[in-house]
Amino acid sequence: MAENKVVTRFAPSPTGHFHVGGIRSALFNFLFARQNKGTYILRSEDTDKERSKREYEDEFLELFDWLNLKYDMFFRQSDRLEIHQKYIKKMMDEGFAYLSKETPTEEGQREEVIRFKNPNKKITFKDLVLEEITVDTTDLGDFIIARDINEPLYHLTVVIDDFEMGVTHVIRGQEHAPNTARQILIQEAIGAPRPIYAHLPLILNKERAKLSKRDESVLPAIEYKKLGYLPDALLNFMALNGWNPGGEQEIFNLPELVEKFDISKVQKGGGIFNPEKLDWLNKEHIKLLPKEEIEKNILEWLPENMQNEIGKKMVPVILERINKWGDVKEMAERGELDLYFHPPQFSKEKLIFKNVPAEKIKENLKLAISELEKLDEKNFTVENIKDTLMKIADKLESRGELLHPVRFALSGKDQSPDPFTIASIIGKNETLSRLQKAI
Ligand code: GLU
Repeated sequence: MAENKVVTRFAPSPTGHFHVGGIRSALFNFLFARQNKGTYILRSEDTDKERSKREYEDEFLELFDWLNLKYDMFFRQSDRLEIHQKYIKKMMDEGFAYLSKETPTEEGQREEVIRFKNPNKKITFKDLVLEEITVDTTDLGDFIIARDINEPLYHLTVVIDDFEMGVTHVIRGQEHAPNTARQILIQEAIGAPRPIYAHLPLILNKERAKLSKRDESVLPAIEYKKLGYLPDALLNFMALNGWNPGGEQEIFNLPELVEKFDISKVQKGGGIFNPEKLDWLNKEHIKLLPKEEIEKNILEWLPENMQNEIGKKMVPVILERINKWGDVKEMAERGELDLYFHPPQFSKEKLIFKNVPAEKIKENLKLAISELEKLDEKNFTVENIKDTLMKIADKLESRGELLHPVRFALSGKDQSPDPFTIASIIGKNETLSRLQKAI
């Protein structure tokens, strides 16, 4: 039946870079609406004229688009001033609000504001996450609901808009729990039904302090897009922050979250924002992608001059070493991939293995060349190269006598992938030429 339809909303204020913790509130509202075949509303709460900026709104719109958290409706509070004014007038006419003369104590303070006539009663409300809460509103006094008829404030607009939009469930951060009693008083004054509340646990940093914008391990949400995290991984990570799915499964994509999310299993205590866990989850999500998609992404994150056949061959090596696409770019910037494109420079002593004489090393390298030459280009694969070189190495006193100089001749580095992998990536000609040079 239409009147039973679930309506949720996420209502960010565009007053700064969107905080990554906000993703969880958005997600839970989205999931709850979807699993109940309801409506999910995104509402930009830009009533604070001084601090609200359109660029911040654009930022979260871009973010939700990327995360694929599709909303059914979008509203901007500033477009709704006339509706808010209608309610202010009605509340004043009916004695629920009044124009209050103030004595300014500071520069810029108003001589008149609109205050709510507090009935001074106890408000008790249920919460899907927290225990039942009772607040004696007497302590709140006649609080301000609008600076003037053109500037309604948050507590008022949030209640009017939730009512007008038919919001049935208010799912939001626990920092809003103390606001709820005020908002219920306003609901009662305008004859709005009380929505069901769910106040989500605080998100804590690794030191178990409340997550703040100053935490260095926590970036504004949009930065995670720029760093090349997968949207599903970020959603998965945020979903597990406060929600305990029970069971073994940890990796969820968005449709699975819609299916499995259970608001009654959201915990009261704060979840921990652990960047290493995010990286781990992201890697798990990467592994689930089709091969072509992994290749396409890795190539796209490489510098242009590496987006070629060699780049393609590097994919497995790169994949092993990254948690997110942005790591590809970093590897390239650190020069870790240069060895696949340019013969390395190094001093010849580096080719020596333990106290094996240089002449012996030279001989081994020559042997390697003559055997590798027998492989044709199209058979120049990791397996074949490995077979060929191991046959030689196994006959030596120690395998390192061959494998060390070969690896060094190919990479020029103390640490690198194994020589077979490098050889297969750079190809037969380049491999032989580097070995020759080493000799
Ligand atoms: N606009 C409020 C905020 O950004 C949220 C209000 C609410 O969810 O009730 O914190």
